[in-house]
Amino acid sequence: MFTLFGKRVYNSIMLYKTEGIVLKSIEYGDADKIATIYTKNYGKVQAIAKGIRKTKSKFGSSLEILTYAVFLFYKGKNIDTISQSEILESFFSTSKEVIKFAFATNCAEIVNKLTEEGETNFSLFNLLKEALHYLKETNDPKLLTLSFKWKVISVLGYKPSFKLCCRCNKRVGAQKMGEYFSVKDGGIICNECVSKDNKDYRPVSNYFAKLVNKILITPLSIISNYTIPEKRMKELEEVTESYLTYHSEKSFKTDKFLKSL
Ligand SMILES: [Zn+2]
Repeated sequence: MFTLFGKRVYNSIMLYKTEGIVLKSIEYGDADKIATIYTKNYGKVQAIAKGIRKTKSKFGSSLEILTYAVFLFYKGKNIDTISQSEILESFFSTSKEVIKFAFATNCAEIVNKLTEEGETNFSLFNLLKEALHYLKETNDPKLLTLSFKWKVISVLGYKPSFKLCCRCNKRVGAQKMGEYFSVKDGGIICNECVSKDNKDYRPVSNYFAKLVNKILITPLSIISNYTIPEKRMKELEEVTESYLTYHSEKSFKTDKFLKSL
């Protein structure tokens, strides 16, 4: 073991230390790896770990995807170098839980797609850490992952409007015919606005709006104990994916894999 808390570390401005979760890790050259890490203090960081693929590497498995570790980085001109690492928790290190691993990878991929390098967001970091942790325990990894996505949407400032009509801002009461949701406008649309313009929305159940509202105020630790009916899950999944896709304008590779399960 080694310590990251030596004096030498603190005295050098070229070095920085932070907790982080590996979002992606690719092989580079003969022995190196380039990792994309979502860090607590510096947001997303891309860095190289030299000699990591040699048998006696000091890094062990710390640069594997979904590993939560403390990293010591050395600032470089083009790319930073990972100088040391110490694993805090290894999520899904076994290949036994293929489905949970796929959902966890999907969570990491979303954070990767929706963030820029160097933008710190403590809430997002904690959310990812929590999601990976509770994915291990939950019996419904799909509900947990979809809940994580709505929380990410909220944390990044794309939270939909459920109480007020997102077009005219009027309060939306309990509508008899269910509700209408616009991905583009970001929320529920009242009956009046729907009758004026029939573009860019989809019908959703009353259950959907209540569910997403509930998800947004309920910690993942609690959500991990619940499940919802398959029909409701399908609606939640469809709206979540189109909402995320619209707001990120990027496609998620693992989504396709998960859908094929
Ligand atoms: Zn309206």
